[in-house]
Amino acid sequence: MSVRAEQYAAEVIVREQLSPHLVRVVLDVPTFASTGIPDEWVGLVVPGQFQSRYYTVRSYEDGRLTLDVVVHETGLVTEWAARTEIVGETVTITEPKGSFELPPGAGWLMLVGDLTALPAMARIATETDLPVRIWAEVPDVDELTDYLPASAEVTWLAGTGNGLAATVEGLDWSEGEGYFWMAGESAQMRAIRKHLMRERRLSSHAYDVMGYWRASAGRRPRAVDPGPIYRAGKAAGLSDEEIWENYDRAVER
Ligand SMILES: Cc1cc2nc3c(=O)[nH]c(=O)nc-3n(C[C@H](O)[C@H](O)[C@H](O)COP(=O)(O)OP(=O)(O)OC[C@H]3O[C@@H](n4cnc5c(N)ncnc54)[C@H](O)[C@@H]3O)c2cc1C
Repeated sequence: MSVRAEQYAAEVIVREQLSPHLVRVVLDVPTFASTGIPDEWVGLVVPGQFQSRYYTVRSYEDGRLTLDVVVHETGLVTEWAARTEIVGETVTITEPKGSFELPPGAGWLMLVGDLTALPAMARIATETDLPVRIWAEVPDVDELTDYLPASAEVTWLAGTGNGLAATVEGLDWSEGEGYFWMAGESAQMRAIRKHLMRERRLSSHAYDVMGYWRASAGRRPRAVDPGPIYRAGKAAGLSDEEIWENYDRAVER
């Protein structure tokens, strides 16, 4: 039996600059098998590299897989995606994994994130019938106003993700049972998990908080596949919050 995870070779068929900070990359992957989980992600290996970075499947339709890549200062993928001539190049995609798990009885969704979380928040909001409130912290609040579905109530906040913990601490929480989903810079996410556990006393099934990237002073953080950690955590009966804490620790090691 092969234990090797499925990988797909994918050709870049479209590159579109959605905003100064976000580049859309559409890949031709006819045999891709989506999990259907709305925050699913894949590993992306760009030409000339061996290490992968993780990106949300913004959509998969008619064999075309769309990723929206944040263009920041330096990095393997960001520097690749910033080049206008990537159309026609072949990249590698790993099999998708997802973490969003709506508890039975949830009557609303609250989604919070920075630019890296926008693709997942857009897909989650598009694919649910529940009322959705979104808080999105982006470098320029006028830049991506059409990106999120009109059905969601959206609050745009200016910043690079460092204000998210303070935002969540000040939120006016929806009444009744719901689901809180959040992703962004890891230190902010750690602070929020503590807040949700200690102050809001939420059940671990009522939220999902994921560190998507780590701000580093000089040292390049490790890219760690969330997939195996997530699967091992689930198999061990850990809550999502414990699993994502294990993930944060692995990234920092
Ligand atoms: C499950 C999951 C889903 C994700 N989905 C998306 C997505 O849809 N779109 C997306 O753009 N990202 C997404 N990310 C985040 C993305 O994987 C990281 O931002 C990744 O580090 C980018 O790789 P890179 O090669 O550009 O930079 P790296 O080589 O990893 O890092 C180089 C330097 O850039 C810094 N850095 C990394 N990311 C950022 C950033 N966003 N802003 C500012 N500085 C940064 C690092 O601290 C480091 O110093 C996701 C991450 C996870 C775990």
